[in-house]
Amino acid sequence: MNAALPLWPRAIAHLDLDQFYAAVEILDFPELKGKPIIVGGMPGKRGVVSTASYEARKFGVHSAMPSSQAGRLCPQAVWRKPRMTRYAELSRQIRGIFARFTDQIEPLSLDEAFLDLTGSQRLFGPAESLAKRIKDEILRDTGLVASVGLAENKFLAKIASDLRKPDAFVAVPNGPGEAERFLAPLPLRRLWGVGPKTCERLEALGLRVIGDVARADPGYLERRLGEAAAEHLRNLALGRDLREVEVAARPKSVGRENTFAEDLRDRGTMRRELLAFAEDVAQRLRHQQLLCGGVTLKVRLGDFTTFTRAASFEEPTDLADPLFHAAARMLDEKVDLRGQGVRLLGIAATRLSGKKEAATSLFPDEKAIRGRRAAQAIDRLRERFGDDAVTRGRLLEGREETTGTPDDKPKDRGA
Ligand SMILES: [Mg+2]
Repeated sequence: MNAALPLWPRAIAHLDLDQFYAAVEILDFPELKGKPIIVGGMPGKRGVVSTASYEARKFGVHSAMPSSQAGRLCPQAVWRKPRMTRYAELSRQIRGIFARFTDQIEPLSLDEAFLDLTGSQRLFGPAESLAKRIKDEILRDTGLVASVGLAENKFLAKIASDLRKPDAFVAVPNGPGEAERFLAPLPLRRLWGVGPKTCERLEALGLRVIGDVARADPGYLERRLGEAAAEHLRNLALGRDLREVEVAARPKSVGRENTFAEDLRDRGTMRRELLAFAEDVAQRLRHQQLLCGGVTLKVRLGDFTTFTRAASFEEPTDLADPLFHAAARMLDEKVDLRGQGVRLLGIAATRLSGKKEAATSLFPDEKAIRGRRAAQAIDRLRERFGDDAVTRGRLLEGREETTGTPDDKPKDRGA
């Protein structure tokens, strides 16, 4: 702690892990280091790129790009299937590191969050040293690198963390005119809410960089862009953003869905997919200390007709079996497949409650207790050895079967 430095009146940090999914793959499989890695659906299927390592980005590959295109741009890429459970586990660990320093945490995704460090400075010292310490502890405890932006508000902090990635630490000084000076040379697309279209309109007005917007006559901007847009852009260009860090509320649902490379026609395969989803959702409920009182099933047919069906439980649960059985029953009894294949399946646990506040049953059911103990043992094994360490017999059978041609017997048609 350096007591000589002043505390910030408002200190917001934006932390963003570098090439997160790819970084986790390198962390767990060090032989991948230095190679162009693409995490995502393999080319030839309907997949997209989730994360490309920096080596792969040199070939023009980026996230959300169709895998087939990425495969053409970078034929030598090493492809990895996403291991969401592992990424989520590290994400939780990183959130635990944040929580050592502040309870004002707004997660934006698995690898990105805003932290309000204003109040934490009294305990841990000025914001710069505190934000650096968080970055250091993430590296020390997980082996992962975060880029960090520190500023007086969210907008500036987010721009700052992205400016010199990877392994960046950028603090925007908080004095009069500092934010404006920091922003002035940056391109217009850095302004929050400015997409390619707006960018074009601004450039047509002769505006090239953010500083041009800040210096433009407010009346002129208003006449050309409308009052609301002009005010929004002007505030941002001056570095003004009053949004608070919003501490995450409990999620409304925990779900998992998948669009299949080929439409499913075999009910046995559909059930195995549902079981795998139920296992994943239940594990996440247990991790987050949540119970669910209901489950929804989502089914999208080949022609994109989409059904959502809901069921509720008498006793809130965090186990896979009740989720699976309810979803499978709804699929059999409440969805008319109309002779079509299934393009997408998904389940979501709903009506969530915290474990502690849920009323515990007066007569706990022995089977449920044993089920929960077994599930917790499996969670621990998966944490140590990965998702595939423990796989139910039914799932394993399915993996071998699905490598064959899709089963298309008449009995599987319709509902
Ligand atoms: Mg990131």
